[in-house]
Order: sequence, then structure tokens, then C-alpha cells
Amino acid sequence: MTIARALLSVSDKTGLVEFAQGLAKHGVELISTGGTAKALRDAGLAVKDVSEITGFPEMMDGRVKTLHPIVHGGLLGLRDKHADAMKEHGIKGIDLLVCNLYPFEATVAKGAEFDEVIENIDIGGPAMTRSAAKNHEFVTVVVDVEDYAVVLAEMDANKGDTTLSLRRRLAQTAYARTAAYDAAVSNWFATQLDTKEPPRRRAFAGALRQSLRYGENPHQDAAFYVTGEKRPGVANAEQVQGKELSYNNINDTDAAYELVAEFDPAERAACAIIKHANPCGVALGTSLKDAYEKALACDPVSAFGGIVAFNRKLDGETAELISHLFTEVIIVPDADEDARKILAAKKNLRLLIAGGLPDPMKPGLTYKSVSGGMLVQTRDNGRVTKAELKFVTKRVPSEAEIADMLFAFTVGKHVKSNTIVYAKDLATAGIGAGQMSRVDSARIAAEKARQAAKTAGWPEPKTKGSAAASDAFFPFADGLIEIAEAGASCVIQPGGSIRDNEVIAAADEAGLSMAFTGMRHFRH
Ligand code: 5GP
Repeated sequence: MTIARALLSVSDKTGLVEFAQGLAKHGVELISTGGTAKALRDAGLAVKDVSEITGFPEMMDGRVKTLHPIVHGGLLGLRDKHADAMKEHGIKGIDLLVCNLYPFEATVAKGAEFDEVIENIDIGGPAMTRSAAKNHEFVTVVVDVEDYAVVLAEMDANKGDTTLSLRRRLAQTAYARTAAYDAAVSNWFATQLDTKEPPRRRAFAGALRQSLRYGENPHQDAAFYVTGEKRPGVANAEQVQGKELSYNNINDTDAAYELVAEFDPAERAACAIIKHANPCGVALGTSLKDAYEKALACDPVSAFGGIVAFNRKLDGETAELISHLFTEVIIVPDADEDARKILAAKKNLRLLIAGGLPDPMKPGLTYKSVSGGMLVQTRDNGRVTKAELKFVTKRVPSEAEIADMLFAFTVGKHVKSNTIVYAKDLATAGIGAGQMSRVDSARIAAEKARQAAKTAGWPEPKTKGSAAASDAFFPFADGLIEIAEAGASCVIQPGGSIRDNEVIAAADEAGLSMAFTGMRHFRH
């Protein structure tokens, strides 16, 4: 069946005229809505207005243009089974729908006010798209400008018709678009509510931001979707230089920036260096340079090819220092002229300007796929303050030790479980990540600290007199004993094990101070 009538209604008019000219060549009758009809007429094409075929004007500021049985019957009617009904009601078939929607996502992205965003929720467009896609046996639906050429090519090859296989593929694309569109609307609405809806009542699809060269490995396909959440970070940052971000870059950059955002830039400069989504060094300092040097000292070997994040505007002095070590990505709230100039010489290095820091306390959602499903949870935005600490041992920690405990525990929140983090003078001394046993994490972290001391020529590893943080309670005293042997003077952990008393006794025996946080920070 050749395509005889087409309805075109598009907000994005890219490629429209060329496509319509191609259709006209095949003798297709063109029907269109206001702005689209005008664009076609201006190009000298013959077009019928939708209002002419429905007998209704476009009304209510465009809210009702195509919502009419003449249109939907023409799109939905089965050409065999419903032929009589179509004839009876004077409904002529529409064989091709070309539709792209009001730019809802772009309207949100430009920061429009509530009412303007609402007006940009397209109703008739998605309705027609879904009607046409449902009736793909007879109707071709095009929602993506990139598909115009494919449709014309098939019409050229098939005497003005498309193949069922193409129509099915286009129908799938159409439903992907309307699904993402409604998800974007719901995600935006969620940001406008006072109440915090639980994950089970929130949408979680996003809009395609970037097709990636490959996924975690070169044989995997991948893409980057954005949810529309206005959170400063990797999804909304401006990339001022460097190669395209890879899948692993995006994942690691996110981990790096969320970590430094934990620390108030007005108080101290913070630096995190990330490898494989785990920090290999984190430090607070009087300046960015100071913080970077301290973070790097934790594990200079692993920092090679790492991702570096700061919580303050990047300066030239620090940029110069980083440029000496191979670094994949730098993400910062901003960068001064000096820093930009220095880094510009490093063509491959990606510099991301986030424009601000994400609020670590702000609610949000995280997603993780499992076979046949997806896990959705609220973001881990918990944070323990000094006032919430419960000191459970005889030894009383100093103020400096308490500051190190809180720092280590906050860093631990961003390390894969099981996690042990040693910190001294507000810098990590050793990080043990992702072990199946907490004792192994404690041992690995201490070993990393020994290596760092050797590299730097320090007389002893920084675990001596450090604070050790554990992301979850100690089920037995063995993990704590390992920490005592590494020379730590205090421990911070959630508490809550049935063997807490044994663990407290072991801490007292080793002369350690220990604080319970009452909050766990698993991360997998
Ligand atoms: P135009 O620029 O042709 O005036 O409008 C095209 C846009 O209107 C398309 O994005 C299409 O999805 C949308 N549209 C078509 N019919 C309706 C309708 O009945 N209601 C609403 N709200 N939008 C419609």
C-alpha cells in the first residue's frame, strides 16, 4: 500500500522541507498544523490545514489542534477491518505521521518558570505518535529527524511504500520517545514538589545525552542518559577541553565530584583522586595545592591516570602541579584563566566545569540494574555530625582526632564496601576498598599506608596515630585488632553488632578511642 496521505506536525523543523519535498515527489498529500503548515507553504509546497479536515480550528493556545476522531481515526483505523467504520464517518486514512514534540526537556534545561514548562507539555503530539505506532501495520511513524532519509529511501525502493520491518522499528522508536518524554515530565514534576515521594512512585527514565564509543569494555555498547535533575556534576557540567568522555570516565568523575562536595569550600579546600570509582587519595587543605599534594601522597602510584575533583575554583598553581601527572579528567566548580591556559596545553585532558557543587544532603534517587529489573533507592544523603557521635571507650579523643574520625567516615561513605579508611591531619593515610572481609580491607589499607611512607621517605606510615573509619559495624573484634596493630589511635564505626561489647573491650585493651555513628554507609 503506497503512502497517500501524510500528517506533519513538528516543533523541531530541521530537515522538514527537504523531507516534505521528497514526499510530494511521491504524490503524497500533505496535512499539517499551524507552524508546520506555514513552513511548508513558505517553501512552496501544497499543504492542507488540519483544521480544514477536522472542521475545528486550532484552539486554546494550541492545546487542542489534532485531538479529533478525524485525525485519530485516520491514524488508528485498521484499513481492512475498520474500512466500513472509516467510510461511514468520513474518515480518510493517514498513512504517515511525522511528529516531534514540544521541546519540554529544552524548556526545563533553560530554567523556564513553572507555567512555561507546563505549556510545553505536548499532548496531541504524543497521542498521535502512539496512535500511529500502534497501527504500524498500516502507518509509518517518524519521530526522529534522522529517520527522514531512511523513509524516503524505502519509498524510492518500494514504489512509495515502506516495509513492515521498518514500520515496526519506527514504532519502537516512537514509543521510546513518548516514554522518555513522559518520564522527563514526571522527573521535572518531582523537583517541584514539597513532599518527598518514595522511589516506587517516581519515574526513572532519562533523555539521551550522548552515545558513548563503548561501555565499560570495548565490546560493550553504551549511552549516557540524563534525568533532568539540575544537580551540578558530570551530567550537567560544561566540558571545556579534551577528548570525549568515556563510560568509565563518567562513572569515576561522578564518584570524584560527589565526594569533594561533602566538604564545605568556605571552610577548607578538598581534593579527591579517583580510580575505578574508588578514591585513592582524599584530603582537605588550606589551598587546592595543599589538598592535592596531601591527596596524592596517599597513593601516588594509583593516582596515575586518575580523575581529580576539587570543591573550589581551580587556580593556575594547582593546575600546573596536576599537569605533571597523567590525569584523565579534572572536575571543578570553576577554573580561573591561568588554570585554563595551563591545562589547554594538555590536549587529551578533559576539564569539566560544573558551575557549582551538588548538595550532598539533597534527596535524589540512584539506580542499579539487576537481571530482569532495576533497583531504585533514595540517595545516601546521610551525614553524621560531631554531636551525634557516641563515645564508647575509656580513652577520650582530642578535637583533632574527632575531626579526623569524621573526615575518614565521610570519605568511607564514598568507598566500595567493605571499607576501612585511615586518616590523619584531614588526609587519607590508607584506603581499603571492596573486600569481602572487613579484616582484609583493614590490612590492605594499612599496607597502602606503608607503601606511601616508603615512596615519600617518611619515617613511619601515617596510620600511626590515625583515625580509622569502618563503613559498617565490626561483626568480630578481629578487624578492630588489625586496626590497632596498624597504629591507629581511634576508630569510628556505626556500632550495632551483637558483639559490640567484645569490640569495645578490644578497643579499651588496645588503648583506642572509639565512636559509634549509628549510621551505616554501605556502597556497592
Ligand atoms: P506547529 O509548529 O505545527 O504549530 O505545532 C507542532 C507541534 O504541535 C508538534 O510538536 C506537535 O507534537 C504539537 N501538537 C500537535 N497536535 C497537538 C494538540 O492537539 N495538542 C498539543 N498540545 N500539541 C499538539
